[in-house]
Amino acid sequence: MTSVLALDQGTTSSRALMVHQDGRVLGSAQHEFTQHFPAHGLVEHDPRDLIDSLLRAAREAIAAAGEQPAAIGITNQRETTVLWDRRTLEPLGPAIVWQDRRTAGRCAELKALGAEPMVRRKTGLLLDPYFSATKLEVMLRDPGVRRRAGRGELAFGTVDSWIVANLTGGGRHVTDPTNASRTLLYSLESGGFDPELLALFGVPAELLPEIVPSSGVLGESRPGLLGPPIPIAGIAGDQQAALFGQGCVAAGMAKNTYGTGAFLLLYAGETVPAPPTGLLATAACNALGGLGYALEGSVFIAGAVMQWLRDGLGLLGMAAESEALARSVPDTGGVSFVPAFVGLGSPYWEPEARGTVTGLSRGTTRAHVVRAALESMAHSSRELLETLVTGTGLAVPRLRVDGGAATNDWLMQFQADILGVPVERLNLAETTALGAAGLAGLAVGVWPGVTEFGSTRQYRVFVPQMAESERTFKIRSWERAVSAALHWARA
Ligand code: ADP
Repeated sequence: MTSVLALDQGTTSSRALMVHQDGRVLGSAQHEFTQHFPAHGLVEHDPRDLIDSLLRAAREAIAAAGEQPAAIGITNQRETTVLWDRRTLEPLGPAIVWQDRRTAGRCAELKALGAEPMVRRKTGLLLDPYFSATKLEVMLRDPGVRRRAGRGELAFGTVDSWIVANLTGGGRHVTDPTNASRTLLYSLESGGFDPELLALFGVPAELLPEIVPSSGVLGESRPGLLGPPIPIAGIAGDQQAALFGQGCVAAGMAKNTYGTGAFLLLYAGETVPAPPTGLLATAACNALGGLGYALEGSVFIAGAVMQWLRDGLGLLGMAAESEALARSVPDTGGVSFVPAFVGLGSPYWEPEARGTVTGLSRGTTRAHVVRAALESMAHSSRELLETLVTGTGLAVPRLRVDGGAATNDWLMQFQADILGVPVERLNLAETTALGAAGLAGLAVGVWPGVTEFGSTRQYRVFVPQMAESERTFKIRSWERAVSAALHWARA
């Protein structure tokens, strides 16, 4: 058998890809599922929808490929929290999604109690509703549920655990380090769930999954579910799977994903790194799929600025039109656009900031504004990378890219220009699924080693061309616009 089934359970859809050992995608399918927003700031999924949409996609991908896969690799939306009955696999309620903000007050309370330094030292994260632990606290509020949890009747998991439980008919309750490291319950230093953290969030140890390696056979799918049983041989959270799929497995290799927001991960090696202020340290996969570490930062608004120009202002018919518009003018005509719609993240951390456009004149056109908005993605990604580089002292000789907005050639060239290092775009859009396939395929010998796995990747390279004086001028203009946004927020 020469292919691997990659299951990519994302925030808005479930995808399945049959990845051949030569890198070709033999078959794929994708199904969206319902998002539930029961109140402001609340985001939920029905855990059964995640499984149903994923299994449908898996069956279609296998049928399209016309062969049985040698193994299954799983990648998933991270942090999203599920609680279920171990025996019946019945969820106790909706999954609380990573975007859900209902535990913001609880996080503030824990900070006020002085818990953050200990949490940060152990987990590499911050006290934020984004992560799983406070979501699980909410699920355990009911005394009856808590009693059942203490008796070992219930199972907690991130989405990877929930998928494995369903694939194995409840036979396995596991997670991998990349997912565990997003829960706020896992210590990077000890490589396991941490008693002090469990005590802080009141989590009974009976609820927890076993932590297994990201690459390695951990069980097999129930007969009949996807045809004959298939070994389940890889698990990683989506951003870490993309990092592995991009071949970023040596210290200093970094990838940036330009989607709604932008996620930049820098592989840091096999010792736990200290995260620079405002950035996260997290478990990742080394060249063999074993345990490594990465530093992570995110820009809240990246591709979303294009959606706003399209849907909010009607300046664009579709996001892809931005490329021709940007090329139609020699520069932004002095306009800078700071899309701080939800505040400014790293390295400024100003939640009160809002979108700011500076340098408007009578000569400003739609093309100038669109170009400035595209440039903002590159400027904010540069700031993230610079914060990582300054904080770690690692040299980052190039940036690998993926995600919807990375298809924009003009933007990728501008990114290389403004970074001053080459930008490499993979020929395959699905880096996340590719990473999951790689982790599983290495474990069962579809690829004998990481070299063979990597040999199927090809990159288009964007080489920096901008004169240094122009680059400095553009960065300075961006920084002035950011100062204006900060001044407005703090005045
Ligand atoms: P997500 O996974 O977050 O939904 P995707 O990776 O699918 O995101 O990327 C979609 C985002 O990329 C959208 O915000 C869209 O506006 C933006 N986008 C798509 N194509 C382009 C393009 N050619 N130029 C700029 N932005 C684009």
